[in-house]
Amino acid sequence: MPSYPRPPFPPQQQSVPGSQRAMDPYPDSGEESYRGSGRLSGKVALITGADSGIGRAVAIAFAREGADVALAYLDEHEDARETARWVEQAGRQCVLLPGDLAEKQHCLDIVSKTVEQFGRINVLVNNAAYQMTHHYLADISDDEWVRTFDINITAMFRICQAAVPHMSAGSSIINTSSINSDAPKPTLLAYAATKGAIANFTAGLAQLLGEKGIRVNSVAPGPIWTPLIVSTMPPDEVSHFGEQTPLGRPGQPVEVAPIYVLLASDESSYVSGSRFGVTGGKPIL
Ligand code: NAD
Ligand code: MG
Repeated sequence: MPSYPRPPFPPQQQSVPGSQRAMDPYPDSGEESYRGSGRLSGKVALITGADSGIGRAVAIAFAREGADVALAYLDEHEDARETARWVEQAGRQCVLLPGDLAEKQHCLDIVSKTVEQFGRINVLVNNAAYQMTHHYLADISDDEWVRTFDINITAMFRICQAAVPHMSAGSSIINTSSINSDAPKPTLLAYAATKGAIANFTAGLAQLLGEKGIRVNSVAPGPIWTPLIVSTMPPDEVSHFGEQTPLGRPGQPVEVAPIYVLLASDESSYVSGSRFGVTGGKPIL
């Protein structure tokens, strides 16, 4: 088994949305390690938040498993180009789709551009998210509350609604939730509430789309070493990130990707409406 970095980490702080290249230690999104075996051969995937962190690990894994990928992200062009380079190195095609998912039109555009480029969508991974740490209720502005919901859950609804007409039976939707979905961290109040909503939305949508043969599941990561963390958490928390888990360290993005591959693949043809934890030992029941 590879040995992954353990806390304490150097204190570090970036501005939102953060850059993977600037992190120390550099997160492992499977660039040098993930080995594919044709499990998603011939599929087309649209992945949001695909420039960095978990989204990059999923994009690299999907490409090495044989999928072409559309990579949506906010504005981290360097991180996105790096992800694209790995996808192309795997011999797959990709398209880059920068823009703000808080805007309804952009949600519709990423779907139509993916279909324009590849003709269909077999796998939709709704993975983009925003969070910010606040120690006092009074510090959360109304705008920030609404924007958090717009990016994390409303965009997910809009993208699913636009994508489903382009998804045939056997397709898969995978939504990134969080351990915060049922164990909310109080300093992430708005974010945690959206993650609860995502878990619930996923369970409902799976039932709604069953008749179309489209499967819908959510993944609930625990602490994972990504730009989201160093751009939204105080440096002292960053230094000790993941220390409280039974495994005593944060997960690396590459350790989250395999469950996305399984849920995207035809091997999980009877798996729908479920939620999968990748938490380093913290129970989610
Ligand atoms: P990340 O920063 O690498 O990825 C999040 C991405 O979301 C960013 O790269 C960014 O491009 C995108 N994004 C943010 N705001 C956007 C907007 N307005 N429009 C379009 N795109 C936007 O961090 P990550 O940790 O890999 O996050 C991926 C997912 O994993 C998120 O849903 C996050 O909530 C979830 N998650 C992360 C952890 C963790 O500890 N890192 C734990 C549980 C869940
Ligand atoms: Mg990013």
